[in-house]
Amino acid sequence: MSDFLTTAQYEAMARSLSFPTQAFIGGKFVPAASGKTMDTINPATGEKIAEVASCGVEDVNRAVAAARKSFERGVWAKMHPTERKKICLRFAELLEKNAVELAVLESVDSGKPIRECLMTDLPETIECLIWHAEIADKQYGGISPSGSGALGLIVKEPIGVVACVLPWNFPLMMVGWKLGPALAEGNSIILKPASVTPLTTLKLAEFAAAAGIPEGVLNIVPGPGALVGEALGLHPDVDVISFTGSTEVGRLFLRYSSESNLKRIVLELGGKSPFVVLDDVKDYTVAAQHAVQAAFWNMGENCTGNSRIILPNNRKAEFLEAMKKHLQGWKIGNPLDPANALGSMVSKSHFTTVMGYIEKGKAEGATAVVGGAPLGIGSGLFIPPTIFDGVLPTHTIANEEIFGPVTTLLGVNSNEEALRIANNTVYGLQATLFTDDITNGHLFAREMKAGTVSVNNFSEGDNTTPFGGYKLSGFGGKDKGRESHDQYLETKTIFINLNK
Ligand code: NAP
Ligand code: MG
Repeated sequence: MSDFLTTAQYEAMARSLSFPTQAFIGGKFVPAASGKTMDTINPATGEKIAEVASCGVEDVNRAVAAARKSFERGVWAKMHPTERKKICLRFAELLEKNAVELAVLESVDSGKPIRECLMTDLPETIECLIWHAEIADKQYGGISPSGSGALGLIVKEPIGVVACVLPWNFPLMMVGWKLGPALAEGNSIILKPASVTPLTTLKLAEFAAAAGIPEGVLNIVPGPGALVGEALGLHPDVDVISFTGSTEVGRLFLRYSSESNLKRIVLELGGKSPFVVLDDVKDYTVAAQHAVQAAFWNMGENCTGNSRIILPNNRKAEFLEAMKKHLQGWKIGNPLDPANALGSMVSKSHFTTVMGYIEKGKAEGATAVVGGAPLGIGSGLFIPPTIFDGVLPTHTIANEEIFGPVTTLLGVNSNEEALRIANNTVYGLQATLFTDDITNGHLFAREMKAGTVSVNNFSEGDNTTPFGGYKLSGFGGKDKGRESHDQYLETKTIFINLNK
């Protein structure tokens, strides 16, 4: 705690923040062509922070044209990879220098706790940008085994114009996951931040320009998804859409692509991730600590949030007690107070959705044994950690993604039943497994239908590991790790005749 400033100091910083509010197109901040703006709100207080350009189709057309022009000129795509790497590293360095300011901006725009923004969002975004930048000059192509009469070169090229359509739950971190590899590989990029959290993404444009990223290589168009997202999805000159958000909107991008230029679509979507405790676990102390983190970290506004705790029926009460003990350390309130581990829901409408699920859980017969009612602080958008018992696998709260601080206890009578329930979902983003038996760890991890299985910890892997979902949780590629670069590269064969 000693490394944190005081609440009053963060609040003073929040009042004096400077940040752009216009779109960033072709190296310049510009208003929306229509002149329209949209308010961005601090959900923890209900106060308006700023009016941000609300872009539309014309702005998307301008951004795509700027991106295409920079790509064709080769100012970035054909720059020596080592130079490109140095500029990307300088960009990361500027974020590092301004990390506290960015963390405060992220916190006020999203309701996320400042301590998390400082300890997780900013460092992880920066580390991610560095990790991918380092790959820029370490990519090799291949040579095919085509015999002595030919030389087959397998060459990787940047794909061209990349559009990233982003969610609000980890605004900067999701930019890092996509921008890191896309930039390092020499593409020209358009970012479309979520409408409720555009500010930190816009702020990045200042650092990108200062780091030397050429104009037109990074463009940012805030605005409503139904306009800006759709226009990017349908644009004939966008080569790939990298999307993170709901399964519902993800499906639309596949349609946009099929109705336009068959652009590549990569989707990171929702989840209903299980937290499975096998019957061989003796002591619940560590597992319960991870279950609390898995369910409530980032107010449960987390695509890998574990909202189904599947555990032996006869030890449910013991697990619940262990969770309650850990929850005592999770304070909720003013996001700018560094003592708080939990802040506000991101928006009034999302608050209403989450409360709707809590009410439905009760109406269908489950019992909120922890939490279950909003707290009367700040804007009133604070929902405490909520644990439901008496949940049946058929209940709505055990099946649909809630994306809030709500988890369910599902008792089972065998490890096999646990596995069956864990996999019985339309989603497959992540799964957590606790066991005292390493062989069970391997065996069950292989059987779980999820893109990431974390054994004896709640985790999404790290920068080095690919991340993405099975089933309705993902499509077309992965974020993170070396695999993420494939989204943003084309493979070309150059076949040279060696017969004289
Ligand atoms: P969302 O409603 O799908 O929005 C995501 C993005 O799509 C936003 O930028 C949104 O713009 C835009 N959009 C909305 N309607 C659109 C349309 N008709 N056409 C094109 N674009 C459109 O999702 P969200 O509520 O922001 O985020 C929560 C979801 O993201 C959850 O389901 C969560 O699981 C998922 N998520 C997944 C991951 C992962 O890595 N798998 C990570 C984080 C979150 P507006 O903001 O203007 O609406
Ligand atoms: Mg906001």
